[in-house]
Amino acid sequence: MTVLIIAEHNNSELNLATLNAVTAAQKLGAVHVLVAGSGAQSVADAAKQVAGVEKVLLADAAHYENSLPEEVAPLVVSLAGDYSHVVATATAFGKNLLPRVAALLDVSQVSDVTEVIDAQTFTHPIYAGNAFETVKASDAKLVLTIRATAFDAAANEGGNAAVETVAASAPQGLSRFVGRELTKSDRPELTQAKIIVSGGRAMGSAEKFNELLTPLADKLGAAIGASRAAVDAGYAPNDYQVGQTGKVVAPSLYIAVGISGAIQHLAGMQDSKVIVAINKDPDAPIFNVADYGIVGDAFTLVPELVAAL
Ligand code: FAD
Repeated sequence: MTVLIIAEHNNSELNLATLNAVTAAQKLGAVHVLVAGSGAQSVADAAKQVAGVEKVLLADAAHYENSLPEEVAPLVVSLAGDYSHVVATATAFGKNLLPRVAALLDVSQVSDVTEVIDAQTFTHPIYAGNAFETVKASDAKLVLTIRATAFDAAANEGGNAAVETVAASAPQGLSRFVGRELTKSDRPELTQAKIIVSGGRAMGSAEKFNELLTPLADKLGAAIGASRAAVDAGYAPNDYQVGQTGKVVAPSLYIAVGISGAIQHLAGMQDSKVIVAINKDPDAPIFNVADYGIVGDAFTLVPELVAAL
């Protein structure tokens, strides 16, 4: 069995979540990585060094520059005949691309895989992470998205895969890239961070969100996250959102400040190694998953914590 992983990248660097997909794919068979991009040779060079990767396929063409699924999916489908499994990470990239691939291949997709039991059997969350389901897929070819936080990252050195250039598929022109607005930050990327400080609706405003959480995040070298209520209220940018419809994170330490612990939020952070909750309501559901809880006013407690640190 051979697995085709679709690499996530920005045409110059390989997204680290792809390394977690390599670990998952190694449980299925030999691992090939497809880099579809524009001027993406450096990504192929990084992918070939990943331990466990046997071959890198590089499809370089202008219409792959922005990873539009309408452009990349036909390429994946044209290559899929040689593979038992097609895999990507369950990030915005993979969630955008692989359903289209699965539909074109006329197979069902297994989404957000958290455990590979055998080549056809997988565990994944359902009902917003309330339950985990084990499914046996019967399609001849399997399309999977992988939850990166459920698998260790493969080493990004030590491999020596061959890089093979593959022909680009014809441009589809079904969609057009308009723009990308990225938050620029010196902080670690949320899904890669070892420590996350997250704020909820209790922050009350964007100013207070920053005033309260930034000193704590600075002390800890942490990334900053947010609940959807905080994002919807405009206290924090969209890409800070943790949860079912945000990012799934599993840092060593997650500090939830003024977050109630709705199931949709827990779905994105309950695999964190150590969870600390600060909430003035002793009955807040966040305390059910917290390893350490402090009941009280965040606006008093967080500065005290910063001072103590
Ligand atoms: P609240 O639930 O209002 O909680 C605020 C908390 O702050 C309360 O527990 C309160 O006791 C505490 N508090 C208030 N003042 C203070 C203070 N001074 N000091 C300390 N504590 C204080 N939510 C997500 O987070 N991520 C998602 O991805 C997500 N996806 C969703 C998808 C769907 C389909 C739906 C329906 C909902 C989704 N939600 C998501 C929303 C979710 O249901 C909750 O509404 C949201 O998580 C609540 O955010 P919160 O905890 O910040 O706010």
